[in-house]
Amino acid sequence: MTITRRSGAALLGRIPPRRIGARLYGLAALALVTVMVLAAAAITFVTLAGETARDIRNRVEVELGRVNEIDLLLERHRRIIESAPVELDLDRLLDLRRKHDDLMHALGEHIPNDGSAFAANLKARLPVLAAEGSAALHLAENYAQTAAIDQVEVYAAVARALQREVEAHKSVQLAEVDGDVTRIVASGRQLTGWVIAGTVAALVLIGPFSLMVTREIVRRLRAMTATMLLLAANDTGVHVSGTRYPDELGDMARALGVFKANAVALLAYQRDIEALNQRFEFALEHMSRGLSMFDAERRLIVCNSRYRALYGVPGALARPGTPFEDIMAHRISTGTGRAGETLEARLPWPFDDDRGEQSLALIQLTHNLIDGRIVEIAFQPLNDGGWVALHEDVTAARLQEARIERLAHIDTVTGTANRHAFQEALDEALVAMRQGAGFGVHWLDLDRFKDVNDTFGHPVGDALLRLVAARIQGAVRSCDFVARLGGDEFAVIQRGVADADDAETLAARLIPTLSAPYEIDGHRVDIGASVGVVIAPRHGETAEDLIRHADIALYQAKALGRGRHVVFDAGLEQELKLRRDLAADLGEAISTDAFMMHYQPILDLKRGGVGVCEALLRWAHPTLGQVSPAVFIKVAEETGAIIPLGAWALRRACRDALGWPGDIKVAVNLSAVQFAHGDLVAMVAGVLEETGLDPRRLELEITETVLLSDDAATIGTLHTLRAMGISIALDDFGTGYSSLSYLRRFPFDKIKIDQTFIRDLPSRTECVAIVRAVADLAKTLGMITVAEGVETADHLQRVAAAGCDQVQGYLISRPVPIESLPAAIALAGENTFSAAA
Ligand code: C2E
Ligand code: CA
Ligand code: CA
Repeated sequence: MTITRRSGAALLGRIPPRRIGARLYGLAALALVTVMVLAAAAITFVTLAGETARDIRNRVEVELGRVNEIDLLLERHRRIIESAPVELDLDRLLDLRRKHDDLMHALGEHIPNDGSAFAANLKARLPVLAAEGSAALHLAENYAQTAAIDQVEVYAAVARALQREVEAHKSVQLAEVDGDVTRIVASGRQLTGWVIAGTVAALVLIGPFSLMVTREIVRRLRAMTATMLLLAANDTGVHVSGTRYPDELGDMARALGVFKANAVALLAYQRDIEALNQRFEFALEHMSRGLSMFDAERRLIVCNSRYRALYGVPGALARPGTPFEDIMAHRISTGTGRAGETLEARLPWPFDDDRGEQSLALIQLTHNLIDGRIVEIAFQPLNDGGWVALHEDVTAARLQEARIERLAHIDTVTGTANRHAFQEALDEALVAMRQGAGFGVHWLDLDRFKDVNDTFGHPVGDALLRLVAARIQGAVRSCDFVARLGGDEFAVIQRGVADADDAETLAARLIPTLSAPYEIDGHRVDIGASVGVVIAPRHGETAEDLIRHADIALYQAKALGRGRHVVFDAGLEQELKLRRDLAADLGEAISTDAFMMHYQPILDLKRGGVGVCEALLRWAHPTLGQVSPAVFIKVAEETGAIIPLGAWALRRACRDALGWPGDIKVAVNLSAVQFAHGDLVAMVAGVLEETGLDPRRLELEITETVLLSDDAATIGTLHTLRAMGISIALDDFGTGYSSLSYLRRFPFDKIKIDQTFIRDLPSRTECVAIVRAVADLAKTLGMITVAEGVETADHLQRVAAAGCDQVQGYLISRPVPIESLPAAIALAGENTFSAAA
């Protein structure tokens, strides 16, 4: 989640002066100009009016002063002249004369030099007035009163005319002033007009325009305010209008758009955070484990309800900020904590930085609460000095573990230790071994246990295993260790074993102990046991080596015919290795024709000639040389290679026999594995057909192991083969346990008495009896008897005396390759009879 944050400064920096500003500035300028014009008009008017007033005052002052002075002087002059006729005192008359002269002079001086009509008229009339006055004075000086009075009348007329003249001039002057005043008033009215016009113009120009601009600004501001209010109320769906205007408010709207985008992002972010918080809360509350988190001041930051439930922490103590000590004190008082079980006691507290990373490592603790519960705590110190801890009630799990642990070590059938426990005991014994305590391991395998299971069922099998376990326990010392490894395999760890003798003594005791008959549910049960023995450290210093070697020894014991114990030695392992190598080479040997067939003639004592030759496989191994079939046949049986190898051998033998005289048969060995796997009848029939050999010239030799399983199918196969005309011989007779009973299962054509009996004939009288008994029995059953391993004339005499029909052995001929066979056959009788003679 990212939020577009644009700095306001950057936005402002981009804003040039725009229209609204320009318009407002223009408006202000216009108003200023209008006011200036009006002010100028007013100043002009005031100046003009002042000047006019000053002008009028000057004129009135000068002109009316002068006219009044003239009027006054004329009046005084008139009084002087009119007083003259009644004056009798000469001196006073002379005085009047003087005054007359002065006034005339003064009048003359008051005449304006402005060239006006009034001045010219006055100038013209003053001498007349002076003359008439002077004449009246002259008459009075001469005491001509009457004439003087008449003269005064003349003078007065002139004077009155002049005074009227002056009055008229005065009127004219006043009229002129009136005109000026009227002009000022008129120009004042004009100015008022201009002011009104200017105001109207300003109103008309500024009013609507500013109204328009203001309304527009207000409208857009309102829209933006509304948007901002909605945004403030987290309504991010709101549309930001007015962003297209290229003016200041447009900028503002665009800034608002950015603000909205940020708000949207912020809101989404906030929602995410809230969702996260909710999830966190949910997770915290639904955690299976208790969680507590404390800060560096050891005060609670958070804990979940699981934690509270676990330790019975009340709500009041679960509030953030609660000191750890308070919670601990409560837990100690309620029994879910122990005094001294504080962090200081249990942990490397405080987690100083000097300790570095080590002090921040996770610490696992287990607390056993007083009430018996077990709590596991994963304690994680935090960088800032606090810690977080997970608490889990593991009581049930621990109990379960203990039960499983117990079960895991016990074999449920016998109640002894199991393979797992054996492994552990072996490891312990190996540890003790390093301190010098040698020990032995007995690897036991019951013989014929499968038969018991198959015959009597599993409950009896299980009971048998229990009895076996008990017998083993009874045979060993209490310090020894007995375990059932599975199936019918047991193991004993015999402690304190110094040499092989100690171990062999026990093994030798164990076998008869276990082989003694058992009584189970009214059944008598017979089994045997084979034991592989190893001694530590001689046969291995690791569990792996010891077990492997014990296994090899056991294998060997079973291979030797069961009911035996074998102590491991390196040669056994060598043998095992050899078998493994052979197994690997077998497949290739079949495909590369590395096998050869040798034939051993069998002499017919009655007829005196060779009646049959036994086909015996030979393998020339590329590195090991000649390998005994006793070795590689077993390996081939283990790997399954016996199936193709057996077919090859039969084909080879049948083909070779075709070249022999017609009365000589070929005997071919069959393995039990060939009966168990693959279609034996089809294979044999196929080979006979392919080679064209008369079935009556073929003898098949089987051993008791084929009949061991007592399988109806096996018996059926034998019958089918015999029905085809093939003879069936029972090979190695006498080596098994109940050989005689097999004779009842199938009507064999021939019994081959095993060479071990023949070998022991000279020394053991019971062997003579057995051979004779078998020969007699066979005769009664209509079977032919063959004595194997006839090496000496003594052997021959004895088997012949015992009544055997045929003899096979080195005395008659060794097995030879096909090319030497005719010579061997020719020599056979000769050798035999010359030896007999
Ligand atoms: P077997 O069937 O009992 O064969 C007779 C064995 O006794 C042969 O050993 C033979 O060489 C040996 N033998 C014969 N006369 C005397 C004697 O006077 N003294 C002594 N000590 N031994 C004598 P070989 O050839 O080593 O074969 C061993 C076994 O291998 C055979 O025992 C047989 O069980 C098996 N075998 C050999 N070839 C085949 C085969 O083609 N198929 C199968 N399934 N088994 C075979
Ligand atoms: Ca044989
Ligand atoms: Ca044999």
